[in-house]
Amino acid sequence: MRICADVGGSFVDIAMVGADASIHHRAKFPTPTRDWGAFVDVFRQFQHSHADKMAPDDPISMAIAGLPAPDSGRIISANIECTRGRRLAHDLSEELGRPVFVINDADAFVLGEARLGVAKGHRRVFGIILGTGVGGGVIEDGRVVTGAHGIGGEWGHGQIIFPSPTMPGAVPLFQCGCGRMGCLDTVGSARGLERLHQFLHDEKASSNEITSGFAAAAPKAAATVQYFTDILAGVLSVVLNSFPATIVPVGGGLSNSAELIAEIDRKVRINMLDAPDEPILAATRLGGDAGLIGAYFAAD
Ligand SMILES: [Zn+2]
Repeated sequence: MRICADVGGSFVDIAMVGADASIHHRAKFPTPTRDWGAFVDVFRQFQHSHADKMAPDDPISMAIAGLPAPDSGRIISANIECTRGRRLAHDLSEELGRPVFVINDADAFVLGEARLGVAKGHRRVFGIILGTGVGGGVIEDGRVVTGAHGIGGEWGHGQIIFPSPTMPGAVPLFQCGCGRMGCLDTVGSARGLERLHQFLHDEKASSNEITSGFAAAAPKAAATVQYFTDILAGVLSVVLNSFPATIVPVGGGLSNSAELIAEIDRKVRINMLDAPDEPILAATRLGGDAGLIGAYFAAD
């Protein structure tokens, strides 16, 4: 058994995970974002409570909303302040006395889906997360490809231009959290869908309201989703023309809308140079467990 955790900006989801990826003794704690001591204590206490179920050298493995640099292991981008710049795996291992593995949470999602989820059996997988932001991860032959800088799969950043064939005028270049202007992340996520709806109709609506409205053919929601999927599918088709994945697992809040995924899939395949006849996008099979299960395999 391994202690596996999915560490987000709000919660630490932590559990004992078995070799068959079964999940036991799951618990959820608010993330101590600023206090390193409190952050370590979450793991120390959980480890203490379940010490009898682990061998002394069984690892702790965590997915985190941050990017571990491949050479130093330092967290180079993170919502969780107390981990920023820290050699997280090394430092936690010193504190807890056992091996610690750290993987970016989007990479963990894709790894989980590739090993045991909807992408099982596929050699090349490009997984996407459409949640608070736009994330992604690359898998080749069952392994995460992070690249020299640890940012493999981060397709949500870098300025793009936002016109769609049907859009009345251009969308402004919104400020992105990464410091740039006009990243896909600013319009392609759940928050982006809401921002786009506000811009187009001067009306506040949640991403759930918009996707439900689209499914029910409500005109304003349908128009928003039209532009949203034009933009998202345009960029995704470029990614898939460059990295020939055979499946794109979709996670994050927007993956709950089958109608939305089908619409993105339809437009992606129109734009791909060599599109498959069957859908290439597929909603997550592991759902909220993908991060924990992906974290487990990160220690393999
Ligand atoms: Zn950005």
